[in-house]
Amino acid sequence: MHANNTKPSIKEKLPNHGYNPTMQINTKTGLLEQCKQCLSPNKDTRPDDTAIDLIVVHSISLPPGQYGGDAIEQFFQNKLDKNEHPYFDEIHEMQVSSHALIKRSGEIIQFVPFHERAWHAGQSNYQGRERCNDFSIGIELEGTDSDSFEDIQYQQLAQLVSALQTAYPAITDNITGHSDIAPGRKKDPGTGFDWDKLNNRLNTHE
Ligand SMILES: [Zn+2]
Repeated sequence: MHANNTKPSIKEKLPNHGYNPTMQINTKTGLLEQCKQCLSPNKDTRPDDTAIDLIVVHSISLPPGQYGGDAIEQFFQNKLDKNEHPYFDEIHEMQVSSHALIKRSGEIIQFVPFHERAWHAGQSNYQGRERCNDFSIGIELEGTDSDSFEDIQYQQLAQLVSALQTAYPAITDNITGHSDIAPGRKKDPGTGFDWDKLNNRLNTHE
């Protein structure tokens, strides 16, 4: 009887993913706490003594322009079914990943522990430094090169960036877009991504 009458605590009511006002990263495991994990094999270790000092923002949708579903998770885990869509047939053998994905719903999914090297940036250059995968964290937003993004995605991105800045202080204000480190080759996160909106959230939410 006692057990049946016990109200769940606020913590128990929280989903194990989604908006979390106190996002925290365990720097030993490199994992975001209370976050869905879909660990990707597309990763390796960073070069020795490499400080993590950059966040790269991306956008992705699979099939392109379609939201929902779990094709992005399948793609980053090399499990995309090439028969499901002509575009999947083109890309299913690519071995890529990102550290985390923020879906249109705000749900965050982690693919690679933050201290490990995800394969998200490709050939790239940030302020004269090449191979950005070595020293950066890649965050994908579910979206396209031209669509706007959901408020909940900015909210979650700002929380995640803030947690990453706490866990990896060398990041400071170094946040860039994939198109900025691979110009001419990449267009994401795209024209619909509002950097002011992210910066305003970063400057005000704490
Ligand atoms: Zn990208």
